[in-house]
Amino acid sequence: MDLVKPMIEHVVYPLMERRRGNRIRPYLRELLASETLPPDELETLQRRRLEALLDVCAREVPAYRSLGAEGARPLSRFADIPPLTRAALRADPDAFLAASARPETLIPGTSGSTTEDAPARFYLDRRTVEHYEAARWRGLSWWGVTPGSRSVMVWGAPVEWERSKQAAYRRREKWLKNRVMIPAHDLSKAALPGHIALLDRYRPEYLYGYASALYALAELMRQTGLRPKRPPRIVLSTSEMLFDFQRTLISEVFGCPVVNEYGAKDAGILAYECPEGRMHITCENALLEVLNPRTLQPLPPGETGVLAVTDLHNVSMPRLRYLLGDMASLPAGHCGCGRTLPLLGALEGRLVDILVARDGRMVHGNILVRLSRAHGAVERFQIVQHTPELATLRLVPAEGARAGDTDAFVREARALLPGTRVAVELVSDIPPSASGKRRYAIREFDLPGAPQ
Ligand SMILES: [Zn+2]
Repeated sequence: MDLVKPMIEHVVYPLMERRRGNRIRPYLRELLASETLPPDELETLQRRRLEALLDVCAREVPAYRSLGAEGARPLSRFADIPPLTRAALRADPDAFLAASARPETLIPGTSGSTTEDAPARFYLDRRTVEHYEAARWRGLSWWGVTPGSRSVMVWGAPVEWERSKQAAYRRREKWLKNRVMIPAHDLSKAALPGHIALLDRYRPEYLYGYASALYALAELMRQTGLRPKRPPRIVLSTSEMLFDFQRTLISEVFGCPVVNEYGAKDAGILAYECPEGRMHITCENALLEVLNPRTLQPLPPGETGVLAVTDLHNVSMPRLRYLLGDMASLPAGHCGCGRTLPLLGALEGRLVDILVARDGRMVHGNILVRLSRAHGAVERFQIVQHTPELATLRLVPAEGARAGDTDAFVREARALLPGTRVAVELVSDIPPSASGKRRYAIREFDLPGAPQ
């Protein structure tokens, strides 16, 4: 019997509420009540929160002072606010701090990892983080998972920490969140029996991790035939684009649905998949817009562009129309599950993963992922476009592939980038980044024509 779960539910959470004023549970109740409101009421709620945030910006935030000039209502100027890039935030983070914020009480963080793009410093207040947590629990509740449910996280982040810090982190995860870890950097055939033994001992209600790490684990399970004795309720995929082939295999080996969560460290839980398979936006916490990646003008519903988020609760360090770097669309229409929360279309990867052909055409790294699946001779690949003229394609051939089997994939990859010289390197492995994420496509130069 799991004794940690009732302890978290009935002791740890109520204690945190009383001692530290933690409000995750009341926020969760509010979110569960608002998820079926008529759409116009949801819109009104969102507009009121945006208005209150913009008033704070106009009064208290140096970067947004001009919003309050000339007596116009800040809300009427929202669409004219230039979208905020990580580079602009990085250049002057203090300009985004509200005058009344008490920096000593804020939670510091960085967005963007050092290997992908230079990190930007930001602060969140505790209330904002509690709203993020409540949004995650709401999404999980759609799948029968409640706060304190046992989980196993397939994760890479704490690898770089020293031993004592890692142990303390694991203890906190275990006793505050009922969660244990499988390190994403240790997904090998040799380590797999240990991971399966952990799953059998711990019997998690759900697994949580990056799509690529969960897929790597599932692929090992397929190759070896090893499976945990009891399937979890769900496997939760986060932070990365979840491809259909990944979802299919993960679901098959674990014997449960795979659920997609969309969030960002600096923007919280932005959307969650419902049992009907649609992604519902956490519109009570955030306003999402889809912009043309070159002009940064809003796109019509259904068109894919780059996402900009306005976090409606973060009054300590507001970031308006903040560019997350992810590509998606906002489809019109409703979901059959009964939730009225607006929908987020399929995530199409990150802007930095988009390659650019010599003629300026944008080529999603995803297309190459699908091509590699179609050919089968490629176990893993990564393409790095150094300049519009030059790229390197690294390939790990599939087991049993003969010389020349990967040629068709290389030919089609080259055809997608006419005029770009694509050098091919055959390698035995392409390790994930320190965070545990695996990237298929990397562009090392700025998108031509886009504001930087
Ligand atoms: Zn739904």
